[in-house]
Amino acid sequence: MLDPISLLILDVDGVLSDGRIIYDSRGADVKAFHVLDGQGVKYWLRVGHQAAVLSGRASKTIRRRATEIGIRAVYTGAKDKLPVFEKILKRFRVGAESVCYVGDDLVDIPVMARAGFAVATPAAVAEVKRLAHYVTRAEGGAGAVRETIELILRYQGRWAEVTERYQDRLPDGLPAARCPWRDPR
Ligand SMILES: [Mg+2]
Repeated sequence: MLDPISLLILDVDGVLSDGRIIYDSRGADVKAFHVLDGQGVKYWLRVGHQAAVLSGRASKTIRRRATEIGIRAVYTGAKDKLPVFEKILKRFRVGAESVCYVGDDLVDIPVMARAGFAVATPAAVAEVKRLAHYVTRAEGGAGAVRETIELILRYQGRWAEVTERYQDRLPDGLPAARCPWRDPR
C-alpha cells in the first residue's frame, strides 16, 4: 500500500493548518502553519516525490504557504474535490494507488475513498476516520503532515536519504541514544 506512493495531496484547513481561520480588521484570513510540516514537504520533494494542495476554500494565504514550501500544484475553492483530484492525477500522470491524501472533513470523503493511502488527523470527523488507512498522532497544523511523510519515507526505505546530510557530521562513538531508558524514534 505504501510502496507505490509518490504523490502527496493535502487538504489545508485542519490538515496543514489547525483549522482555525482568523480574520484581521481588513478581512484577510490568517492561518497558522507548522514549520515541521513545511520542512517535511520539502524533504518529500527532495527525494523526487510530488505534492499538491487541494482546498475547498479559496485563500491567498494557502497559495503563499504552498509556494514557500515548494508546492506548485495548488487547487483552491474546490467545492467538489473529486474532479479536481482526477485533474491532479492527470497532471502528474499517476494512478490513485500512488496517492496519499490527508483530510479531515466530509468534503474529503470521495477523495479519501479513492486514494491509495488515505490519512486522517485525530480531529477528523468520524466518517473520514472510518475511511482512513492511518490516523496520525499529531494534530492538523501541528505535525500531522510531517508524521505522514516520515511514515511513508521510512517504509519506503528513503528516510535515510533525508537524514544523512545531517547525521553525517555526528562525531564518532556517539551512542544510538544518549538517554538509555528512552526509545529513540
Ligand atoms: Mg479540512
